[in-house]
Amino acid sequence: VHGHPVLPNNWSEIQLNDLFQTINGLTFIRNEVGAHFSPSGADLSNSDVRTFGEAVLAFAQALSCPTCGYLPQKERDDHRSCRCPKYQTQLRPLNRP
Ligand SMILES: [Zn+2]
Repeated sequence: VHGHPVLPNNWSEIQLNDLFQTINGLTFIRNEVGAHFSPSGADLSNSDVRTFGEAVLAFAQALSCPTCGYLPQKERDDHRSCRCPKYQTQLRPLNRP
């Protein structure tokens, strides 16, 4: 309906955009503290680093299947799915490059 899949009963839909935007606004923390050493990273507060870490964790948990624990990576016709044989976690929409 209007570009959104109709979900079967008892499925839940998790919107990822807000979680992603939170991380996207904090990527400088990843670059200054997490993935690379930078003297300027010492200027960031522990609270800022914690906020970034918690945002990444929330995004990863939202993406992961609660049953098998895998990310939906297997490409299907119009989505990606996890490894569960039935009732998979699905990632929609599927955007191909
Ligand atoms: Zn699964």
